[in-house]
Amino acid sequence: MSLILSKQLYQELRAHGEETYPHECCGILLGKASGDDLRVTALTRAGNTRTDSPHNRYNIAPQSLVQAQREGRRQGLDIVGFYHSHPDHPAQWSSTDLAEAHWFDCAYVITAVEKGAAQITNSFLLNGISEDEKAFVPQFIAVE
Ligand SMILES: [Zn+2]
Repeated sequence: MSLILSKQLYQELRAHGEETYPHECCGILLGKASGDDLRVTALTRAGNTRTDSPHNRYNIAPQSLVQAQREGRRQGLDIVGFYHSHPDHPAQWSSTDLAEAHWFDCAYVITAVEKGAAQITNSFLLNGISEDEKAFVPQFIAVE
């Protein structure tokens, strides 16, 4: 189960985190499942609605989600994942990230941004069929 995306999209996703530093960025990945893999063909930037603690919490605005779904439908694409940044923190999911993840079989991409520069980008697939036993599984990112 790999996450496949073009070099351009990969760079765009990482650059977004540098732009919003020291705050978290967040966005939506549009694409298609292809066999066991998820292929990303478009990104949608989303506003971070968390104003209380925007450096270590993110929340995708509901209208961004609706807009992304609509845009995806028009292009024949699905929401295949989400991305956000961790300013001055490792690219590992937090307990809040897991608690707030509800899209099974979707990719959750995290980029560590250190002092304004994007470092490691990791992807985690949300596995499971219910909230009680959901889990993040590390996923290979294939940049083409
Ligand atoms: Zn996070």
